[in-house]
Amino acid sequence: MDSILLVEDEYALRMTLGDRLRQEGYVVDCATDGDEGFTKATQLPFDLIILDIMLPRRDGLDVCRGIRESGVITPVLMLTARGRTADKVTGLKIGADDYVTKPFKVPELLARIEALLRRAPTRPSAPSAVYEFGQVRVDVRGTEVVRDGRPVDLSAREFQLLRFFLENEGATLTREDLLTRVWGYSASTFTRTVDVHVAGLRQKLEDDPRQPRFFLTVQGLGYKFKK
Ligand code: CA
Repeated sequence: MDSILLVEDEYALRMTLGDRLRQEGYVVDCATDGDEGFTKATQLPFDLIILDIMLPRRDGLDVCRGIRESGVITPVLMLTARGRTADKVTGLKIGADDYVTKPFKVPELLARIEALLRRAPTRPSAPSAVYEFGQVRVDVRGTEVVRDGRPVDLSAREFQLLRFFLENEGATLTREDLLTRVWGYSASTFTRTVDVHVAGLRQKLEDDPRQPRFFLTVQGLGYKFKK
């Protein structure tokens, strides 16, 4: 279940879009101005941020720049006004991942959201980018995961987490490490998010998720991936 932060000051749009996203199965939190958007984006672990540019207190471009400077790597989808081409260019330069021009059709926005949530992580991968454990084969470059010969559907965040485990095989990783390196975000208050995603990986990749063979709990510390 992916979570989305919607930063939009227009009440009607915030309400209709928020409702629609919830209908689609997303968990939605809202912010009504740039300050609140920045605070939530840097303190809560979202999977995607929808960021309007024209906002009170602090405009969306400034918020986007600020959250990237804080080290948050969550995908950002900007909402830009028609005709403001410069905003799109600036936005993409300072770390936004995509934009939709207002007024937009909801299906178009949903498609962009879906694409961003599934997009391959942009970090360059190691030359040998195929990993195997048990019946699971992971192609990091192709962002493909196959188990028992069948494709496994992982969210973008689950994939990033899996990749981080694979690249750090055998190391004990604290929840804080994982939150910082996979979510790009340094507070330790939301480590529960890590647990939820590890549970997701176990569910999808372990034969018996309750007795994991690969994604191990290190009591009192965090997790460890072992082949
Ligand atoms: Ca606005």
